[in-house]
Amino acid sequence: MDADVIVVGLGSVGSMACWRLAEVHGAQVIGVEQYALGHDAGGSAGESRLFRTGYHESPEYVPMLLQARELWQELERGGRRVLFQTTGVLSIGSPAIAPMRNVLASVTEHEIPHEVLDAAELRSRFPQHGSITDEIGVLDRLGGVLRPEPAVREAQRRARQAGAELIDNAPVTGIEDVPGGVRVSTARGSRTAKSVVVTAGAWAAQLLPELRELLEIRPLVLTWFAPEDPAAFAPEVFPGFIRDLGDVHLFGIPSVDGALVKAGWADNWGSIGEPGQLVRFREPRELAGVGAQVHELVPGLPAHPSRHSAHVDAYTPDRRAVIGAVQPGVVVVAGLSGHGFKLAPAFGEIAARSALGLPQQHDISRFSPARFGG
Ligand SMILES: Cc1cc2nc3c(=O)[nH]c(=O)nc-3n(C[C@H](O)[C@H](O)[C@H](O)COP(=O)(O)OP(=O)(O)OC[C@H]3O[C@@H](n4cnc5c(N)ncnc54)[C@H](O)[C@@H]3O)c2cc1C
Repeated sequence: MDADVIVVGLGSVGSMACWRLAEVHGAQVIGVEQYALGHDAGGSAGESRLFRTGYHESPEYVPMLLQARELWQELERGGRRVLFQTTGVLSIGSPAIAPMRNVLASVTEHEIPHEVLDAAELRSRFPQHGSITDEIGVLDRLGGVLRPEPAVREAQRRARQAGAELIDNAPVTGIEDVPGGVRVSTARGSRTAKSVVVTAGAWAAQLLPELRELLEIRPLVLTWFAPEDPAAFAPEVFPGFIRDLGDVHLFGIPSVDGALVKAGWADNWGSIGEPGQLVRFREPRELAGVGAQVHELVPGLPAHPSRHSAHVDAYTPDRRAVIGAVQPGVVVVAGLSGHGFKLAPAFGEIAARSALGLPQQHDISRFSPARFGG
């Protein structure tokens, strides 16, 4: 065998898996990426990501989120770049809606440092947010901003430093059983290992057809706006936010460059058949709807973005990742469904443990590919 584990796809989860496998578990690892390392064609690019522990999806994620937060800090400590900035994250919405109930349950059940603000307090503390009538705010003090591009590169650096071999520009074309393990064929030759971890993001179903019915490929378009007063959107005074108002799910990230503020729709961009169909340039008219909503709810931002970028991610029907063995010796982590970047180091650790047959630190049965009855 050429290695203990081959990791296919070096975006966020694959790079974290290589780091954990090589550095923490001392495994022999080969990582394979179809494009250049650190490319921006997948789901892990776009300058910033929100990290939050007051979790709209469900409080059951909180133990894993707390572990992920420690791992982000551990990754940052070993390098020279800021990967995680604690700014707090403000969830805004009616206390009656499910996402806000989940946020409140997350912070209270798990004793996360937080503040609950009524509408009047929200208006006076965070005047950047407009049209607040009967909504509340929950300020998750452990929340913050992650930097995806340097984080992926740092995980790759740590993996290499611990002995991992990372191969770029080598699309994997097939995975097959061999006695005692698997053979992974790439455009640059084939390699064998005792097991393989497939972290191929929106491309996962192209390698593992059993995922085809489970993964919907969605484009996500990020938009940046130039405020009149950039100081009002600095990380010290403007926490990241998510606002749920009827059908509108708006998110925003404080200015990380002192000039532009990222804000936009958390979803709403439809779906495509496969990642290669992603349209990366959007006409101004396609951005008019998101711009109008950003300006209405955050009036200090103009109605037209100064910059945009389009990305892909894979969504499962229940918006929960698919994690587990799909064939003997083949572990998959995919379908992070627009909210999994913050969990990438925890998912990388889970993938490493699955591939090596080690006990898990979390109950991962809720992520089992078998839950859809396939
Ligand atoms: C625009 C956007 C905003 C988001 N915002 C947030 C947020 O604020 N907070 C949050 O927690 N999450 C967020 N998410 C979700 C999160 O960023 C993604 O779910 C996550 O980064 C996906 O990581 P991944 O490793 O699964 O996939 P990717 O990063 O796409 O990595 C997959 C890799 O596999 C490679 N690959 C694919 N096929 C092959 C092959 N055959 N051979 C070799 N290599 C292959 C690809 O080239 C790619 O590098 C957001 C997602 C998007 C797209």
